[in-house]
Amino acid sequence: MPAQTRLFRCLSDNFGVLLHDPETGATAAIDAPEAAPVEAALKETGWKLTDILVTHHHADHTDGIRALKERHKCRVVAPAGEAAKIPAVDEVVKEGDTVKVGNLAANVIETPGHTAGHISYWFHADKLAFVGDTLFSIGCGRVIEGTPAQMWTSLKKLRDLPDDTQIYCGHEYTLSNIKFARTVEPDNKALAAREAQAKAQIEKGEPTIPVTIGAEKAENPFLRADRADVAANVGMSGKPAAEVFAEIRARKNKF
Ligand code: ZN
Ligand code: FE
Repeated sequence: MPAQTRLFRCLSDNFGVLLHDPETGATAAIDAPEAAPVEAALKETGWKLTDILVTHHHADHTDGIRALKERHKCRVVAPAGEAAKIPAVDEVVKEGDTVKVGNLAANVIETPGHTAGHISYWFHADKLAFVGDTLFSIGCGRVIEGTPAQMWTSLKKLRDLPDDTQIYCGHEYTLSNIKFARTVEPDNKALAAREAQAKAQIEKGEPTIPVTIGAEKAENPFLRADRADVAANVGMSGKPAAEVFAEIRARKNKF
């Protein structure tokens, strides 16, 4: 049976998401920005929380863990590289490990850059990937603990996932990301179409995610730093892709 998801907002602009295996009843929260909206989503769905899968240590992804674990006795899975900074961890995982939520299985992909130990969870059979603050819809996370080159390598790993993979990210930043992306690629028609779509979604109070890897490859400038036209647009023709990526990221920081 295919996985089910429930997406909801937390804090000011975070997403929370539940992943449910209808066969076994297992349910995971991907990150836990705060407990109350997770509890509300559990109540609405009638699902029972069995696991929390953590992408990285930032407080806006982990502050809800303690209260949820106390109440539901759920397992907390966290990246090996930063488990010491995450509360109540039961199990640490690293690149290549498999994490199961009931019968649903995720490959762990290390995606450092935003934080040094950031990981993503790829449920390949279900075509779902939970990427935390590494890849956003039309954007990417700030490079806080790693280097731009490291972040570029992480984004390429996610870019290599099948085009029909549905991406769930940590924040609703799509509209502002598109505004910036259009300064990098003013002639990208797919991006213009995405802006109209995202505006309509926001107006209706709907989330702008999930998004597919295929669409992100066509529209997200941070996944397109190795294209000659994108390099030319930021005045870096012939430069290595990691440097072009670093330039685009630096521009976004000032945008
Ligand atoms: Zn973060
Ligand atoms: Fe975050």
